[in-house]
Amino acid sequence: MGQGAPSTSSSPGVSRRAAPVFLAAGGDSGQGLFGLTMIFSWFKNRRRKTITRDPFPPSWTAVLDRNVEHWALLPVAERQQLERIVQVLVAEKHWEGCGGLEMTDEIKVTVSAQAGLLLLGLDHDYFRNVLSVLVYPAGYVLPRTHLDGDSLVTQEERVPVLGTAHQRGPVVLSWRSARQGGRDGRDGRNLVFHEFAHKLDMLDGLVDGTPPMGDTQLEQWVAVMTKAYDRLRRRTQEGRPTLLDPYGATDVAEFFAVATELFFEKPVQLQDRHPRLYAVLRDFYRQDTAARLGQGRKGAC
Ligand SMILES: [Zn+2]
Repeated sequence: MGQGAPSTSSSPGVSRRAAPVFLAAGGDSGQGLFGLTMIFSWFKNRRRKTITRDPFPPSWTAVLDRNVEHWALLPVAERQQLERIVQVLVAEKHWEGCGGLEMTDEIKVTVSAQAGLLLLGLDHDYFRNVLSVLVYPAGYVLPRTHLDGDSLVTQEERVPVLGTAHQRGPVVLSWRSARQGGRDGRDGRNLVFHEFAHKLDMLDGLVDGTPPMGDTQLEQWVAVMTKAYDRLRRRTQEGRPTLLDPYGATDVAEFFAVATELFFEKPVQLQDRHPRLYAVLRDFYRQDTAARLGQGRKGAC
């Protein structure tokens, strides 16, 4: 999250993806593995069909009405799509309350709906790189070691955080922040969007602020994101005000996570101030959030 969250990347700039390397095909073992994958995928899809065939529980709809402001802004078809995503995320992920927090359907549904909002326009596999979601009542501390520059001695410190996304591990969240972020959908900050954007970034095994996408889209993405990231770093160093949270200047992975928060929470301002950045995010997420929230704003008294 913007404040106090550990950086997950130290990449110097938004990277251009290296040419893909194909594994050598052929051999019985490869075909056997392919067959197993097909069978696993078939079972998984069948299970998902069963899960989403069940009616969406009215008590879950009440949670969305209460805790997820974006829910009310979605057209009916996207609401139904989000309901199915929530059903699968709630059923498939391992949910665990930590620090004395008892896991409830309210927590699962509130988090799943916000995470699922990122997926609405994507070809996705329900965050296949997220097996577990751990939730604390509020913030928590993370032990971290760093090398003291003067003494060259390793220092231990405990850093307060609101959430983290581990590359080969769980998403960890503060329930208070996740709920607050869901209830206020327009303040530009959202812990769940932030951490699950990291997991989208990590889908290709790299933490470089660039989630998987097609080559044509990638070229534009790298050009626009690099420029916007450099601009944020410059303005942050100069102490000038920025629409994007200065935490995004930490590294490219944080830049993508922070830009995602703004794209969903303050899209009209993002489009006004950074139209090219808005456009590449719109093309990636395949959602026109400015149109959605702009219309919602007009409808309000
Ligand atoms: Zn982050």
